[in-house]
Amino acid sequence: RKNIGILTSGGDAQGMNPCVRAVVRMAIARSCRPFFIYEGYQGLVDGGDKIKEANWTDVSGFLTLGGTMIGTARCKEFRELEGRRKGVLNLIKHGIDALIVIGGDGSLTGADRLRAEWPEHVQALEKDGLVSKEAADKYHTLMIVGMVGSIDNDLASTDMTIGACSALERICESVDVILSTAMSHQRAFVVEVMGRHCGWLALNAAISTGADYLFIPEAPPKKDDWEASMCKTLKASRDAGKRTSLVIVAEGAIDRNLNPIKADYIKEILSTRLGYDTRVTILGHVQRGGAPAHFDRFLSTMQGAEALEAILRAKPDTPPSVIGMLENKITTQPLKEAIELTGQVAQAIEAKDFRRAMELRSMSFAK
Ligand code: ADP
Repeated sequence: RKNIGILTSGGDAQGMNPCVRAVVRMAIARSCRPFFIYEGYQGLVDGGDKIKEANWTDVSGFLTLGGTMIGTARCKEFRELEGRRKGVLNLIKHGIDALIVIGGDGSLTGADRLRAEWPEHVQALEKDGLVSKEAADKYHTLMIVGMVGSIDNDLASTDMTIGACSALERICESVDVILSTAMSHQRAFVVEVMGRHCGWLALNAAISTGADYLFIPEAPPKKDDWEASMCKTLKASRDAGKRTSLVIVAEGAIDRNLNPIKADYIKEILSTRLGYDTRVTILGHVQRGGAPAHFDRFLSTMQGAEALEAILRAKPDTPPSVIGMLENKITTQPLKEAIELTGQVAQAIEAKDFRRAMELRSMSFAK
């Protein structure tokens, strides 16, 4: 019988609520006690009423709600050893011996660190008289399982992160709306989409909305003079009768020399070289909002159930794991490897090995 803390951390993502619901209900079904930890790692550091036992009805209605009802935060203190030590003390005080973290790359890196340092923290707390010898013996380890909540789909080792599908849905709806007005006025639109250093949302949005041109970090334009190629492509489709031009640019897009490519610069090129009436739309936070799409509800529920099982299967020396999905199967893999693999994307881009970056991002289907 485990006492399981659940927190959502970092950037919010549609599907976090369904994750929390699945974990709470599976925990209760498996005779464990689930605890909400509010406001991500901030709640862990603050303790007190930020940690509260959850019951079955506390998560009623969570399946269809966007955002995260237990709150999320970016917590500076947790980046410091002292902050994490406070978190350890609060977990022990509440009798929590397992933790499920729902968040992105940063949050999961923090979780891995917490686990690696755990014995050292417990020893120090015992030495300072803040926990008893019995408690130090009882809480000699902390089970940790991560779930990837991120609209960016930027974690290697999983085909889809929770929230990415809903964000893509929102982008497609927004671009469809833009296209109807663009078509009426024969305008060009440059649409910037989120994703941080990942181009998955932009790539999939471009395919799904029939964009004329796309810029993503993992596959920069092949030529240095990409402006001329872009203009040629856009002009060809206008010449063939298309009334609009649509360029999608990922917020982290770069050129071959790793310099950023920004929406305003693309607009300037289209206006001056082609004379198109060009507008820029930065979709912004609309992409993170609203109800989770069906797929995110499904993925969260299946993965939440697996997260709980992974906690129950774990032995005291089992390293933290992360729940993912590969080729339509729910997976449990070592968290450390997933984080390291994700780090390799940045290294591949830095080394201009763009093929490898596409593979690691689960985007090689677009090659
Ligand atoms: P995301 O989880 O969406 O990638 P962040 O990168 O902002 O978002 O991380 C969320 C929180 O996770 C941070 O505010 C911090 O509290 C914690 N965190 C991130 N990176 C680390 C790290 N290297 N060590 C400890 N904690 C971290």
